[in-house]
Amino acid sequence: MALPTLAIVGRPNVGKSTIFNRILGERVSIVEDAPGVTRDRIYGRAQWLGKDFAVIDTGGIDMGDEPLLSQITQQAEIAIEEADVIVFLTSIEGGVTDADEKVAQILYRADKPVVLAVNKVDNPERRQDIYDFYSLGFGEPYPLSGAHGIGLGDLLDAVFAAFPAEGTGDEDDRIKFSLIGRPNVGKSSLVNAILGEERVIVSNIEGTTRDAIDTKFTDNGQDFAMIDTAGIRKRGKVYENTEKYAVMRALRAIDRSDVVLVILNAEEGIREQDKKVAGYAHEAGRGIIIVVNKWDTIKDKDNHTMQEFEAHIRDEFQYLDYAPIIFVSALTKQRLRNLPAMIATVSENQNRRIQSSVLNDVLMDALTVTPTPTVNGKRLRIYYMTQVAVKPPTFVVFVNDPDMLHFSYERFLINQLRQTFDFSGTPIHLIARSRK
Ligand code: GDP
Ligand code: GDP
Repeated sequence: MALPTLAIVGRPNVGKSTIFNRILGERVSIVEDAPGVTRDRIYGRAQWLGKDFAVIDTGGIDMGDEPLLSQITQQAEIAIEEADVIVFLTSIEGGVTDADEKVAQILYRADKPVVLAVNKVDNPERRQDIYDFYSLGFGEPYPLSGAHGIGLGDLLDAVFAAFPAEGTGDEDDRIKFSLIGRPNVGKSSLVNAILGEERVIVSNIEGTTRDAIDTKFTDNGQDFAMIDTAGIRKRGKVYENTEKYAVMRALRAIDRSDVVLVILNAEEGIREQDKKVAGYAHEAGRGIIIVVNKWDTIKDKDNHTMQEFEAHIRDEFQYLDYAPIIFVSALTKQRLRNLPAMIATVSENQNRRIQSSVLNDVLMDALTVTPTPTVNGKRLRIYYMTQVAVKPPTFVVFVNDPDMLHFSYERFLINQLRQTFDFSGTPIHLIARSRK
């Protein structure tokens, strides 16, 4: 479940963010109206030869007024802590510098594979100088040109060769969930309150990823693992207080989760940052429950208060129309007993498989109720639908022309599925293919 992760380190200006964007460049967002973390991003998922992995641009985590060398050191430490493989990026322009050597010294001490790359090798003449970089002590340097997109394939091959073998992770039947939200929404309080309610805490064991602690417990015969996010263990490193680092930790926790609890603060309403992480969880296809905490602070509630709040959330998070909303209080423990069962239901919905015969009955009914649109006199034809994956449920529809399946009809089909089957809490992916 934990994604193999590559981190890019190196002194400023060698092209870290250029390479990062190149690696993530091909990524296509499935749903257009989700505000992902595309701008200003330092973390993302990508695919190479059909395999998912995560990429971190440590250069994007800026430590404010810290001196340059100290920033470089901390970025390298983040890479060592978070990544399975480190790409040490240098540049042919300027050759091997003191700052490169500083980075090298930190990476020597790391118990992680390092792949050395030399960027800005834009033409064959520049290639001659790459041998100077052997002096850094990380073997053969991989020449790259971020500007021209050259050399990335060989680099990623080397990175994948160095990733740890698959299947050593914490694969089990536990439902993994995380609590995501801005500082002060009450994540730690909720963690404690949820665990306080649970009779059986199995263990507090170190997760497979670096410093994540997963707390395992059982509720009603169902096993859960709660993934702790940043903020639980504050070790006082400078970078841990930067917002970008916190966001990155949240995104990494989302990638490890089956179900994400998006925590909002009833007192403060919805902020931009709430939408950012929720958008990522949605794009990553995770199960989502919106948890409005501190419900006890809303005084003089009448029977409209909750409805109004809910309408506000639906308006702000339109792409999360499938996510159930629960109003709780970590303080009074109101409704917290319901959470584990809710998480279990969402997880079940995420794993739901529908037989093709049943699906096609639904499809035929849908086509009768709302015929497919015509575009320039040509009608969209849908022949067949089949489910190809779970987590999230993913359906392929075979059509005469995939370009004609527009967002609104796609939306209609997804809604038909939701009306017929219980997919609450899970995104649904729909892919159009032309029939061969
Ligand atoms: P970072 O500080 O390491 O993240 O570096 P950036 O990605 O911001 O790049 C620094 C500068 O180098 C920018 O002006 C880029 O356009 C330029 N750059 C990046 N890759 C290449 C490359 O392959 N060739 C050349 N000539 N310039 C590049
Ligand atoms: P975190 O930063 O998201 O982990 O938030 P904390 O759990 O540290 O909570 C932040 C503050 O909100 C603390 O002072 C908590 O006591 C308070 N708090 C958390 N949950 C509730 C709640 O349900 N009701 C009220 N009234 N206060 C809460």
